[in-house]
Amino acid sequence: MTIAYVGLGANLGDRRATIEEALARLDAEPDISVTATSSLRETAPVGYTDQPPFLNGAARLETTLGARELLDRLLAVERALGRERTGPRFGPRTIDLDLLLYGGETIDEPGLTVPHPRLHERRFALEPLVELDPALALPDGRSLAAILGTLPPDL
Ligand code: ADP
Ligand code: MG
Repeated sequence: MTIAYVGLGANLGDRRATIEEALARLDAEPDISVTATSSLRETAPVGYTDQPPFLNGAARLETTLGARELLDRLLAVERALGRERTGPRFGPRTIDLDLLLYGGETIDEPGLTVPHPRLHERRFALEPLVELDPALALPDGRSLAAILGTLPPDL
C-alpha cells in the first residue's frame, strides 16, 4: 500500500463538479481509496494566460497500484471526463490530474516524472499538499512548507 498525492485542476465547465466526479471515479476503483481532499482554490492561469481561471486542489490516495498504473488510471479518468489534448500545452482543460508524490519515490521515466517536475514552483500545487499534511516532504527530505515559504508571491 502506497500513499500518493494527486493534484486536481479544472478551468472549463462546472469545475467543482468535474473535480468531484474525478475523485468519485478514482475512489470507485478497487485498488484506489481517496482518503483526504484539500479545499479547492481559484488560481490565475500560468504559462498560457489567455484562458479562464483554474480551480485547484489536491487529494491523498491509498493505492496498491504502481506509479505507472496509477498515472494510467489518472489519464483514463481525464479522458472519460472530456479532456482533449488538442489545444496549447498548459491550455484550458476540463480536468487535470497530476501525480505529485508517490510514497517517497523518485521516478524519472519517459512519460512519468515523480515528484511532478513543476510541483516545487507552483503555489497552487504546494499549498493544498501542505494543507493535507503540513509535514510532507520531497523524497530528498526538503519540506514542502519550507519550499512554499521561499516562493515569490506571484508564483
Ligand atoms: P500538465 O499537467 O503539466 O499541465 P499534462 O496534463 O498535459 O501537463 O501532462 C502531459 C503529460 O505529462 C502526461 O501525458 C504524462 O505522461 C506526463 N507526466 C509525466 N509525469 C507526470 C506526473 N507525475 N503526473 C502527470 N503527468 C505526468
Ligand atoms: Mg497533467
